[in-house]
Amino acid sequence: MFRPIIGLEIHAQLSTKTKLFCGCDNMAWGSEPNVHTCPVCLGCPGQLPVINSGVIDKGILLGLALGCEIPEVCRFDRKNYFYPDNPSGYQITQFDHPVAINGEVSFFVGDEKHSVRINRSHLENDAGKLSHVSDGSLVDWNRAGTPLAEIVSEPDMHSGPEARAYAQAVRSIVRSSGSGHANLERGEMRFDVNISLEVTKNDGSTVITPITEVKNINSFAAIEEVVTYESAVLEKEYLATGLTMETAGKTTKGWNADSKSTYVMRSKENAADYRYFPEPDLPPIHVSRERVEEITSQLPELPLVRADRFVSEFNLNLEQALSLTEESSVADYFEDAAKISNNPISTCNWITTSLFAKLSDRDGKALEITESPISSQQLGEMIALIESGDISGKIAKDVFDVMWNEGGSPQSIVEEKGWKQVSDAGAIEAVCQEVIDENQSIVEEIRGGKDRAFGALVGQVMKKTSGQANPGMVNEILKKLIS
Ligand code: ZN
Ligand code: MN
Repeated sequence: MFRPIIGLEIHAQLSTKTKLFCGCDNMAWGSEPNVHTCPVCLGCPGQLPVINSGVIDKGILLGLALGCEIPEVCRFDRKNYFYPDNPSGYQITQFDHPVAINGEVSFFVGDEKHSVRINRSHLENDAGKLSHVSDGSLVDWNRAGTPLAEIVSEPDMHSGPEARAYAQAVRSIVRSSGSGHANLERGEMRFDVNISLEVTKNDGSTVITPITEVKNINSFAAIEEVVTYESAVLEKEYLATGLTMETAGKTTKGWNADSKSTYVMRSKENAADYRYFPEPDLPPIHVSRERVEEITSQLPELPLVRADRFVSEFNLNLEQALSLTEESSVADYFEDAAKISNNPISTCNWITTSLFAKLSDRDGKALEITESPISSQQLGEMIALIESGDISGKIAKDVFDVMWNEGGSPQSIVEEKGWKQVSDAGAIEAVCQEVIDENQSIVEEIRGGKDRAFGALVGQVMKKTSGQANPGMVNEILKKLIS
């Protein structure tokens, strides 16, 4: 029997204004290549790095959000390797004194709660970006020197969906804590998947297959695909060779998103190959307990805690609460709207169905909820109009569309279009009587016990009132008149 053992290393860009060791713009995505550079991030001889204390603060903040301890001292080390996108010939990273250690992340896979231990979250600078073109390769160093947190999990996961849910939970934590934007399309969060198989033999004993590390995955879907693909490769190799972790070690692979397959990059590299040593140009950093306390006090409510509160405070079920709290901007929108609407469950439904549908297909490009043309206040007011009986749920759909396309408050739209629900009993009774007079045969059927025909009469009243009659009252009055 084969059981996957999975650990993730997640690189998350921290959203400070400037880079890790120089004053260059850290939020330069989309700029012309190589304009946000200086001698430090270009690795020129004689340059000296200076630690951006904002990065240390974000590193502490993220560490706390991941449930980590923050050691009193952290330190940077040199990791020596050459690559064309790495101009200094080494990376400045944290080897044996990371900013955060020993955390834990909880999340749901379906309705089952899982936890993954965090070994460490350390700080390091990013490399530049290579683009391979037909007649060579191009390098953009705008990204060189941008600050990353590398979040290293313990190998606690055992399936693709679990690894994916963990990665999504970490992104949610990075964003909601205010540590980074974690936009996958922009490479602000990237995943390395470590995978091996635990093999249970017929006699009950177990061995572990060699480990594969698949580097630089940039989508959640690909995490699952990698686990499926590479599990099959490891199983096949084990059956053919019998090699284990002890006899074969680790292979580093890349992921081809087009062919959905892995390819070998290198094998058997270990820490000694990088000749790590303490960065001679930077002093160790003492992290005072006051600083940790101060940052702890800034830590916002985290996604799962907020989901729990939504369940108890707003009577949502867990699934609803989780769908609102993965993004803190969505959760904020919900809370604002729910305060005004007087109906949290209906507010949740409007957001997760109608609003999400609109946001996801505006000109084929997804919008963030913060860019929604309908504000949380407008949606809340619209739902309040349903609650007070001023408009029906059906008319609300039209109001929603007008708000989305043309803007305006729900009250003024209802007023202008004359969409106010008719709750005047006399007016409704008159229309009901009219419909009864015109449909004597149906009325006889209903009197003869054929209840299903009743809906047809309700439909006719709604049609005659352009959908504006209060449906509850129509039902009541029709029943009264027929009996
Ligand atoms: Zn620079
Ligand atoms: Mn790294």
